Amino acid sequence: MKSVDQHLADLLALAGPLRPFEMHLLDAHEATLAQDVYSPVNLPPWDNSAMDGYAVRRDDLINASEATPVTLFVDGDIAAGADTLPMIEKGRCFRIMTGAPIPPGCDAVVPIEWTDGGTEIVFVTRTPNLGHHIRVRGSDIVRDSLILGEGMRIKAAQIGLAAAVGFDRLPTHPHPRVVVLSTGDELVEPGYVLRPGQIHESNSWMLVGAAKEAGARSFRAETILDNAGQFMRVLEDQLVRADLVVTSGGVSKGSYDTVKEVLQRLGTMQFESVAMQPGMPQGFGTVGPDSTPIVTLPGNPVSAYVSFEIFIRPMIRQMLGLKEIFRPTVRAILKGEANSPKGKRSFLRGVIEVLDGRYVVTPVDGQGSHMLGALARANALIVIPEEVEYVSTDEGVAVMMLDED
Ligand code: AMP
Ligand code: MG
Repeated sequence: MKSVDQHLADLLALAGPLRPFEMHLLDAHEATLAQDVYSPVNLPPWDNSAMDGYAVRRDDLINASEATPVTLFVDGDIAAGADTLPMIEKGRCFRIMTGAPIPPGCDAVVPIEWTDGGTEIVFVTRTPNLGHHIRVRGSDIVRDSLILGEGMRIKAAQIGLAAAVGFDRLPTHPHPRVVVLSTGDELVEPGYVLRPGQIHESNSWMLVGAAKEAGARSFRAETILDNAGQFMRVLEDQLVRADLVVTSGGVSKGSYDTVKEVLQRLGTMQFESVAMQPGMPQGFGTVGPDSTPIVTLPGNPVSAYVSFEIFIRPMIRQMLGLKEIFRPTVRAILKGEANSPKGKRSFLRGVIEVLDGRYVVTPVDGQGSHMLGALARANALIVIPEEVEYVSTDEGVAVMMLDED
């Protein structure tokens, strides 16, 4: 049997970071920056007021106090967006609004709260420090300085900064487009009534969600019967929008395992048994004119989910250009016992929590590879190494945190 690590390495070799291009800001959200970005401007671009108040000459207000307010003549208003700026003369001031440019002669802004709010003349009751409430040009970002680093995930704040320095696009590795196909004669779309022998199709919904959470744009195709012709037709239709295809079902040793049967003929696929539980039957390769990577997951829902976590999530994150492609793993105290087949790496579903400052993990009831109820209660995978067959309660185990990036 092939090791989990070898299989992961083979899959990661299948797809590197997607070719970057200049993506529009909103499309770049949650994609990865492909280059260092430098600011073409200073931020703020010019000195401006941090408050609604009065643009003053500080020297006029040296003796201002509650007991002896200083009177200034108000020559008018300076609003945000003002383009021609008046000179502040001795003994005079302008009302100024937040974000408005600081006029010549002004060396402090007095907030309204220190005055009587006058519009013709104003009484000022305190002396401002030099530069008070003035946001100095370049105090946030200095022109030509590095503002966003290659490899970083573009989130809301980074988009805000890019826009503020004037970029409408960023050099970005795009989100991988992942198409999910599921196969099985027994599968029926949720929302439809089941006839005897049928079950609702759940894997594709789950995997589309998981791919999205990993950072992909993911799509679901129609459910495919165990029929070679239909499988090839849907696959060909879907390839145009796929950077990666993920299938579930039809790869075991049964007689209706269409995915394996059809893809094997292409000669660009490998089907293998990987030493893990759940998730042993795995396949991968490339399809179509662009040699699009394809990964075939087993059909049991928990096997599909765990295989996605272990293999496909890191692939998607690598395609996205992220440096950190794996879930965080911590050591935790096991509450309860864990059994694992000899020679296989087990991924038990568990609930991890912090108790008395320490991670504690409890396997959920229901470790069968069909048990979605148990999977939906879990927030972690407990990893039992190949050579370990039994772990007793209170021992330490490695745990992958499913709720963290
Ligand atoms: P297979 O890998 O096709 O042999 O399927 C293994 C088990 O997983 C069977 O019990 C299938 O009914 C079930 N299964 C396969 N595909 C799906 C799916 N898309 N949604 C829910 N269950 C599935
Ligand atoms: Mg099947």
